[in-house]
Amino acid sequence: MTARIIDGKTISADLRGKVTDAVHRLRRDRGIVPGLAVVLVGENPASEVYVRNKSKAVTEAGMQAFDRKLPATTSETELMSLIAALNSDEQVNGILVQLPLPKQIDARKIIAAIDPAKDVDGFHPYNVGRLASGFPALVPCTPMGCVRLAKIVRPSLAGLEAVVIGRSNIVGKPMAQLLLAENATVTIAHSKTVDLASVCRRADLLVAAIGRPELIRGDWIKPDATVIDVGINRVPGEGGKSRIVGDVNFVEASKIAGAITPVPGGVGPMTIACLLLNTLRAACGQKGLPAPNV
Ligand code: NAP
Repeated sequence: MTARIIDGKTISADLRGKVTDAVHRLRRDRGIVPGLAVVLVGENPASEVYVRNKSKAVTEAGMQAFDRKLPATTSETELMSLIAALNSDEQVNGILVQLPLPKQIDARKIIAAIDPAKDVDGFHPYNVGRLASGFPALVPCTPMGCVRLAKIVRPSLAGLEAVVIGRSNIVGKPMAQLLLAENATVTIAHSKTVDLASVCRRADLLVAAIGRPELIRGDWIKPDATVIDVGINRVPGEGGKSRIVGDVNFVEASKIAGAITPVPGGVGPMTIACLLLNTLRAACGQKGLPAPNV
């Protein structure tokens, strides 16, 4: 059997198109142009690429991008002042602080200083608590994208055995919360899990958010399962170049799974599309408008 490939590029392009249409309607009917501020501290090359891609996507969706680039020597107090200014700037509906931050800055303090209504990453404890309590919230973009990808294969996730590998605040934990909200039966596995292979074999829906290249082997997958691979791992490739692989051994897994996301071209593009959706939602929320039906 060969698994269906869940094409994140096409699915995210569709979502971005819908967000763009909704943004145009918002501008035309109400004169509102959602704005996202992306804050980058320091010169991490990977972060610079992410920030560039995010700002480009924001502009392409008809929204305003406010890039704020600060030197690596920025103090916590200076970054706090910038967050305070962005919190009170009416043109800014979403604030995203690119992680990781330099050592002298406590990322938790910065995240907690962002206005929860503008917290388009969904990392603020207020939004984390609301998600866990089953209230509407801004939720982290990567797991939100994963749920949308899984639902392409199975529109209802109710009753599925879902296994999430990874318990980070950015992916694993919110992923588990979102799947619980979809009425899946959720197991969270991590580095201390005993016999990970057996745990994975139970999964109708397997989400790997580990950061270990191709850790998940084909014979860990339940036949016909849906596999969502969040991992982005750079490994040595041919001719001295590097290539990107996921946390799942794609060649092996695609012979057993019913459907699988490729890396690259799966979860990655969905994350950016969901960031655009969160910015639109944040703008509507701040203007007292209903959440857009996207
Ligand atoms: P993270 O904070 O490093 O968390 C990794 C998780 O994996 C931890 O919970 C860890 O367990 C668990 N883990 C590590 N080794 C394990 C093992 N051998 N067996 C079982 N569990 C293991 O990473 P993250 O930020 O969640 O990111 C995970 C991956 O997703 C990375 O490759 C990252 O680049 C990628 N990512 C992709 C996107 C995207 O848009 N596609 C977005 C975010 C992240 P412990 O808690 O016990 O240490």
